[in-house]
Amino acid sequence: MCWGTSSGRISQLAHYGPIGAIILIIWITVSAFNCLTKWYPPQSTDYLSIINFLIFWIHPCVIFYNYFCAIFRGPGFVSQNWIPANKEDIQYLQYCEICESYKAPRSHHCKKCQRCVLKLDHHCPWINTCVGHTNHASFCYFMFYAILGCIHGLLMLCPAVYRALFVRYYLYHRIKNVPIIIFSFWGLLSSILSIGLAIGVVVAVGFLLGVQCRNIIKNQTGIENWILRKAIDRSHRAEKKFIYPYDLGFKENVRHVFNWRNGFSSIGDGLVWTVRDGSDQYDLTREQLEQKAEKRMRTVRYDVIGDYNGFFFPIKYGFRTCICIPFTDEHRMKITRGDRVLVTRWETYWLYGERLISTKTADKLSSSTTTETKKKKRDRGWFPRCCIYEAFKMEDLWSGKIRPDSDMVLSESINFGPESFAPEGFDENDHDNNSEVLSTDMSSTTTSRKRTRKED
Ligand SMILES: [Zn+2]
Ligand SMILES: [Zn+2]
Repeated sequence: MCWGTSSGRISQLAHYGPIGAIILIIWITVSAFNCLTKWYPPQSTDYLSIINFLIFWIHPCVIFYNYFCAIFRGPGFVSQNWIPANKEDIQYLQYCEICESYKAPRSHHCKKCQRCVLKLDHHCPWINTCVGHTNHASFCYFMFYAILGCIHGLLMLCPAVYRALFVRYYLYHRIKNVPIIIFSFWGLLSSILSIGLAIGVVVAVGFLLGVQCRNIIKNQTGIENWILRKAIDRSHRAEKKFIYPYDLGFKENVRHVFNWRNGFSSIGDGLVWTVRDGSDQYDLTREQLEQKAEKRMRTVRYDVIGDYNGFFFPIKYGFRTCICIPFTDEHRMKITRGDRVLVTRWETYWLYGERLISTKTADKLSSSTTTETKKKKRDRGWFPRCCIYEAFKMEDLWSGKIRPDSDMVLSESINFGPESFAPEGFDENDHDNNSEVLSTDMSSTTTSRKRTRKED
């Protein structure tokens, strides 16, 4: 366990997620233990009660062990300035401006961690870090034992609370061989609350564990699952079958996460992956680049005609806009009249896009070396649809239907010339993870993209 290193720091615990999770585990454990002592206390004459007592306390130990392993091992990050062994392969990879390295196959940038994460599955607020290559197994064990612990807790809580609620019945009928359980008001309330929390954990974590198991047996992450769905959709249209390169069969797929043959540590360095016959390391990254190219074609540029202050419920734009909000915690982007945005996702009352920045601002930001300033380059998020006016489809611009020097395109603040602004176009897999900066060369086709970074 890497205490205090870049993998995981003690300070990561100072966040509502870990604090909430730790309080939840302790709360359920203490309440359930209180019930256990009342209902089924360990007795030297009853071995089962001792076994029950021991198993009861093993659960929180194993839960906390795996929980802290998941936090302090961390997911594994791509090191700064990483490039593949063969320099020619960088053409298949995306570049992360913030981490200043290429994104290794299966790695993605996490906006919350501000790092490129090896085999990123998702960012988990409960552990306040990502789930990725190094901590995937610990995270799954944590969920598994959390479910078992809660089920055991429920077996202690429910009978005790039931008997406490109907204690008068047991007393009136003088039922023997049943312990009489009496709670204080707060004790009873706490136990009932614990039952609700434990049921919630079993259902919610059970669902998440089910999703994880489904992905693990296919050797996919949540993000790859998303990419693959789009790849299959594209392959139907292109009549060219996409083969997922990391599917090595059930046993090998599971072993790649849990690695029971070698001390349960993750297999490999997270940068180079075993692929199935007929595939290579970059099949998936090439597919990602092609998907992004398609997405660029769908981009529409809008002019902002109304101010939006970034509130989740902008009442001034009507009841429906407030009710039909996008159900995601993604950023709401503040926009003001006169801004221009590139939109990549549409909902009935909301749009997701990125603010265009002027050449001057782009140059200023590019010259900066701080991460905070680099982040500012990527101003993206949701905003109400009624704030904007469709200027033109980017597809028309790329295909030449609209000239880059037309009045519609040019403005005093924005220049669409080669490498003049950084649209930073696309959320990686619609997850808002990508920090790649692609240049927009209007004179070229969509396939001839250039990177704003020098690649060698
Ligand atoms: Zn990154
Ligand atoms: Zn993260």
